[in-house]
Amino acid sequence: MNPKPRKRFAQHWLKSEEALDSIAEAANLQKSDRVLEIGPGTGVLTSRLLPQVRAVVAVEIDRDLCKKLVKSLGKQENFLLLQGDILSLDLDSLLVPFPRFQAPNKVVANIPYNITGPILEKLLGTIREPSQTEYDLIVLLMQKEVADRLVAEPGTKAFGALSVRVQYLATCEYICCVPSKAFYPAPKVDSAVVRLIPRSVLPAVINPNNLDILVKLGFANRRKMLKNNLKSIVESDRLVQLLEKLNINPQSRAENLSLQDWITLSNNLQGE
Ligand code: SAH
Repeated sequence: MNPKPRKRFAQHWLKSEEALDSIAEAANLQKSDRVLEIGPGTGVLTSRLLPQVRAVVAVEIDRDLCKKLVKSLGKQENFLLLQGDILSLDLDSLLVPFPRFQAPNKVVANIPYNITGPILEKLLGTIREPSQTEYDLIVLLMQKEVADRLVAEPGTKAFGALSVRVQYLATCEYICCVPSKAFYPAPKVDSAVVRLIPRSVLPAVINPNNLDILVKLGFANRRKMLKNNLKSIVESDRLVQLLEKLNINPQSRAENLSLQDWITLSNNLQGE
């Protein structure tokens, strides 16, 4: 019997073999891989990963689950379990005594949905401070609504500040939808598997702080035109001129600008 899921840790046990297959396949697992798993829970995904890779280091916050995981998977020599909060622990230093598990090159996880944003930030960093740890690939099962935002194209409803921020740091690919009935207990929302490939070379931005502020202000009120949302940092007439010069419609709303448009705009607004 699986342990009773705890709401406060956003526990939903994945029971669909099909979903587990999709996650493993999307991770393109290799014998040499060192995988970081966030929230192994009862270990269903972990058990899939272990036979296929060199090492799995899993971080689980729930002490009771950790005891169970040690019992069920503790004997496997390529498994290391760390009890703690993924958001606050310092993985690099904790792994110093465990050479086999150091510097994981992939992240594969069915994450706790209540901290999706902070997990993305922990793994990828921010526009201002991109992460130093560079993973080859990250496969996450997350709520579908967030997945849609990560892969959204400009000009669509789902395209927002999160899309620009994450797409700046990684290429994002939608793998498949996972219906809520694939879990116990079924979450209120559908889920989706997403693959992120962190960019090893970031797009050329002269001043990342500038881009960060621009995206924040630009999307502050989605119904307003960009020139109105950016009034506090650039005079509206001047912005219209600049947008025309850059071949961006001056009537645009933030959602109409592509990642490249944001970067070009930021680079051309130096010193404003
Ligand atoms: N991977 C499992 C469980 C997913 S549910 C499965 O697919 O069935 C999310 C898991 O993340 C739970 O086990 C929960 O206890 C754990 N978790 C929640 N918050 C966490 C945090 N801050 N750090 C690490 N693990 C966390």
